[in-house]
Amino acid sequence: MPSTIRVAIAGSSGSIGTQTLDVVRECNAQAGTQTYEVVALGVGSSVDALVAQAREFRPKVVAVADPARRAEVATALPFCEVVADMADIVVTADVVVNAVVGFAGLPVTIRTLQAGRRLALANKESLIAAGPVVQPLRSVPGAELVPVDSEHCALHQCLRASVHPDREVARLVLTASGGPFRGRTATELADVGVEQALAHPTWKMGPKITIDSSTLMNKGLEVIEAHELFHTPYERIEVVVHPQSVVHSMAEFADGSTIAQLSMPDMRLPIGYALAFPERIGVPFGRIDWAQVGRLDFQRPDAATFRCLALGYAAGRAGGTAPAWLSAANEVAVDAFLEGRIRWTQIADTNDAVLQRFTPRPCATVDDIIAADAEARAVTREVLSAWA
Ligand code: MG
Repeated sequence: MPSTIRVAIAGSSGSIGTQTLDVVRECNAQAGTQTYEVVALGVGSSVDALVAQAREFRPKVVAVADPARRAEVATALPFCEVVADMADIVVTADVVVNAVVGFAGLPVTIRTLQAGRRLALANKESLIAAGPVVQPLRSVPGAELVPVDSEHCALHQCLRASVHPDREVARLVLTASGGPFRGRTATELADVGVEQALAHPTWKMGPKITIDSSTLMNKGLEVIEAHELFHTPYERIEVVVHPQSVVHSMAEFADGSTIAQLSMPDMRLPIGYALAFPERIGVPFGRIDWAQVGRLDFQRPDAATFRCLALGYAAGRAGGTAPAWLSAANEVAVDAFLEGRIRWTQIADTNDAVLQRFTPRPCATVDDIIAADAEARAVTREVLSAWA
């Protein structure tokens, strides 16, 4: 890797996007051996944030998906080329941070790997929905997938302790904070509102993933993500609740040794790991104060109350386009919850009902995946209209 790494960020206005720019800003200010040049930024329609970011970081290219806002960006940023397609920003970069929310992030994942670049993947939905299409692209020369998701970033680090992970890994243990509703019963959760579900106890994240954390759908999707990333069979992927969010995940090996990765719950740490990989860079964030942490607790997840976790395993084991269906159903259901159209408990009801109507389809091409996503969304809207 060159000493200046060129970074493109798709979805730069969101939580991961802005925290990526925090990492770049701080690393460059430290004047270490590694510096970062932001060469491209992309947003959907958050152009005010984009313009402010571009004035600070001076990228060559910005992407604005919203056609109604593109002209004003071109006027505000005369030093930038303004493009429509977020996936067009990948070719200028050494590493592409995919921080787009949801299935919309798929083109960036595909194009980055096709171009033989390093993909710092915060958009788990693209890998989950399109695993069969994404997997072959990982062997494109130069292509590398480094997960930014904290648990998978942890496993990525733990597995560097293994020479032959395919035969040495006994199990992967994903940790879950349990979210804001840990310890609550289904009855107690019948009437929880959006604000309560958005009040995550340990992590600062965007609204979609924060709701997913409250239902444990995030962990269910992460089980599929771990399977796709590391090729570990589902029966060897476990979930344990760990309220302190300091152990980010663990790999247990055949000899009974477990390697865990620990750090403060700060997304800037996995972002920094993915930007610098395979090296490690100094970042000024999140040193652990052991005496302050005090203790580390672990519990079994409450699968009866948080039904989305089992749905993740079910969709993963079904394979093919089933994960695409679950991920699409969940996106539509979470939007409906955030808009006040369904209750929190109905997110799991919706995902379950849609998965029960799952119809296997071919999944050999990107178009197959897009069709599966569209079909699942249509089924989800039918299910939601039945709830109303
Ligand atoms: Mg995670």
